[in-house]
Amino acid sequence: MDRREFFKLVGVAAAATGAASAGITGYLNAIDPAAKAGWEKEAYDPEKGRFDRTPFEIDHMPFNKVGTPKRVEKYADTMLRRTNLNLAFDVPEGMPFPAYLKTVVDVNDLANTPLSILKDKELVAFYQGILDREGWNFFVEDLRYFLEIMPFFQRINMETSFDIALASAYDNAHMYSAGLHVSRVASKESDFQGIGPKKYEIKDPKEMSRLIKKIGALFGSPLVRIVKLNPEWSYEHAPGDGRGYKYGESVDIPEHWQYGIIMGIPLSWETREGAPSFFHTFEGYGTSSMLCARMSEFVKKLGYPARENSPHARYEYIMPPHMVAAGVGEQGRLGVVVTPEFGPNFRPSMVVTNMPLEPDKPIDIGIRKFCMNCKICADQCPSGSISFDGPKEINGRGYDGWQINASTCHNFWMSVPNGGCRVCLAVCPFSKESNWLHTTARDIAIRDRTGITASTLTWMEKAFYGENTPEHYHYKEGSRQFDYLVGETPWFFESKNFLKE
Ligand code: SF4
Ligand code: SF4
Repeated sequence: MDRREFFKLVGVAAAATGAASAGITGYLNAIDPAAKAGWEKEAYDPEKGRFDRTPFEIDHMPFNKVGTPKRVEKYADTMLRRTNLNLAFDVPEGMPFPAYLKTVVDVNDLANTPLSILKDKELVAFYQGILDREGWNFFVEDLRYFLEIMPFFQRINMETSFDIALASAYDNAHMYSAGLHVSRVASKESDFQGIGPKKYEIKDPKEMSRLIKKIGALFGSPLVRIVKLNPEWSYEHAPGDGRGYKYGESVDIPEHWQYGIIMGIPLSWETREGAPSFFHTFEGYGTSSMLCARMSEFVKKLGYPARENSPHARYEYIMPPHMVAAGVGEQGRLGVVVTPEFGPNFRPSMVVTNMPLEPDKPIDIGIRKFCMNCKICADQCPSGSISFDGPKEINGRGYDGWQINASTCHNFWMSVPNGGCRVCLAVCPFSKESNWLHTTARDIAIRDRTGITASTLTWMEKAFYGENTPEHYHYKEGSRQFDYLVGETPWFFESKNFLKE
């Protein structure tokens, strides 16, 4: 019996024990009339989704205000900060940025590069603030990205180009409409472009919200929720060129940005165990952006302005707090929102409009408490980007939660063939396709505030799926071995089975 089989056997035994304890806990909890079933397993209700949130709705946010709220600074988006980093230097015209960097930093001692070499003093203040608050040296990680990570990424992608051919083609297939989504929000006026000739008066915002959820489901979103937008959770300055703004331009919130219609899609469950190289973010990007464009068209044709906030079109608003406010789920240790149906495996988008709607309420399904005990994502994160501590103020923005080190995370994304990671998504006990065992355990876990079921579910996850070390997920250059995944390469991405090298 190998280690995996042994763990599976022990896992079944533990699951039985867990189910018994969960059963007792479930019975005790069920005595409380507030404890009603949330999952409607038999049927998918396009208005409610697969999970009825009503019993879990609360009248306050499941996170705390711990300081003075502050909008998001333009440098917070790691990819856009890196895209614009050359602007913080006097790079001679025509000189590649990495080549220039080698002339102004000591490549053998990047860690000691002084911030004073930057001419953008606001960026210096941003880097210094993160360093003081978190101890994270984003500046050095950004330099590493250009000088070490990108060259490594180019080499390993070249080396494995045949092995990742199918996965890469699959990724690109989901990117074909990216330009379309960018062009749909090319100006501030685009919110009003394509609006129908007549503005229909809405009879009842509550009924209209019901209709929007139905239409979102028809478009293909398994979850649709509505939120009242909070300007505190938006970019203060454009994090890059586009969407009608120049990089750094102030983002003023116009009157018609009132409500958000949140939709989204889980990444394919079949590729989950292929993380970090074969669990595809791009499919989520593409589909979620498409859902957003469709809903935007629907709203506009009824006479109301609409603005897409989606992975391809990009964002003025930040999604996690709005998703929490709308009861999509609760923020988890891995930084994103954990939903009852899909766990954190949910790629969101949002249509912003002033169509009169009724916002949904937040929910409390005990994720914060669960994460305090679990820590699987932090244990396994290959770049050590996830905190083991409790929630604390996020980035000096006035609210508490969990923040990951996005710089080291992004550098890891670019350190494996095909790029990407999502190991945290893949190993989270809530990220499981509906099967009776996980659904039952989850169903009880969110209602059990004793923590017994949480411990059982965490144990089950480790027993069934293994406990990899962070080092396990690192690709060894020159090996062409895909032994660093959560599980196996999905059969439909095995190039050697379908293509001649
Ligand atoms: S995506 Fe990967 S590197 Fe980033 S936080 Fe998750 S596990 Fe860590
Ligand atoms: S893996 Fe565990 S700690 Fe991390 S987000 Fe999921 S439930 Fe929370």
